[in-house]
Amino acid sequence: MLAGVKSASSKNSRFGAIRAYRNVALRRGTCSQMWLRGPETACVFPNDGGVTVIAYMATKDKLDGFRVNPSDALERSMTGFPDAPDLSSAEPLRNALLVKGYPNVWRQPAVGNIAFVGDALMSIDPLWGVGCGFAFQTAEWLVDTLAPVLKQHGPTAPALRRCAKRVSGELNGHRFLIVDYARRHGLNAIERLTFRAAAKDPAASRHLHAYGARLIGPAKFLAPRALLRAAWVDLRRPAAHTAQPDAPV
Ligand SMILES: Cc1cc2nc3c(=O)[nH]c(=O)nc-3n(C[C@H](O)[C@H](O)[C@H](O)COP(=O)(O)OP(=O)(O)OC[C@H]3O[C@@H](n4cnc5c(N)ncnc54)[C@H](O)[C@@H]3O)c2cc1C
Repeated sequence: MLAGVKSASSKNSRFGAIRAYRNVALRRGTCSQMWLRGPETACVFPNDGGVTVIAYMATKDKLDGFRVNPSDALERSMTGFPDAPDLSSAEPLRNALLVKGYPNVWRQPAVGNIAFVGDALMSIDPLWGVGCGFAFQTAEWLVDTLAPVLKQHGPTAPALRRCAKRVSGELNGHRFLIVDYARRHGLNAIERLTFRAAAKDPAASRHLHAYGARLIGPAKFLAPRALLRAAWVDLRRPAAHTAQPDAPV
């Protein structure tokens, strides 16, 4: 910002409420859990020391209900999700944090002799939890590209251009889909298809996981072969017939 390098931005239609608790009785395993239901998203993040962070995000038409008492509204909202933990006996560690707006903002990876990493490069919807991973990853790419050049007192401009190309190639697709979802009020047809298939089939589940963990990009995630397979799984298996009813979560 101080460098005067312009950013691009786009709206995020959601707000969020976050609160940490001790002694949350989890109903489905001990790893992080996420519910996507129309305009609403809920997350449960078990941490060390018996602390569990609860997060709820919804479109801003629901924000007024959170302004007076975000903590109560967060707990009320969580009760509606299937298998969500009962928070009534949990010990809150502090008041809920209400994040009223979180616009998507991003820049070119390198402008002149300035390179951007982390949130300075892109600060986008926290719903998908990419911020810290992208921050470490972009910092690593910058160091990997620039360090050998600096050691040899070589020209930095070509190295910065190479780094920028890599950052754009690897992350622009992810950013595009995250920014697109932030504008919308729910899943689109392709997202519904891939999520349904993932709930019914281990291979489709691994494919979705690889994308969610950002191990593959949108081109591979949405490859025609993968979508055809998801459609085949979805048609062949009824919703109640999940492939992994006792999957460890
Ligand atoms: C409510 C919320 C929930 C989030 N949830 C998640 C999540 O679940 N998963 C996830 O991966 N990400 C999440 N994020 C995003 C994540 O926090 C950021 O993407 C990440 O912290 C970015 O790291 P960074 O190092 O680029 O920037 P920052 O963490 O912002 O670090 C920048 C540092 O630079 C310092 N600084 C700024 N200006 C100067 C200056 N002039 N001189 C010296 N120091 C300066 C700042 O004080 C700060 O300490 C969330 C963010 C918010 C707000």
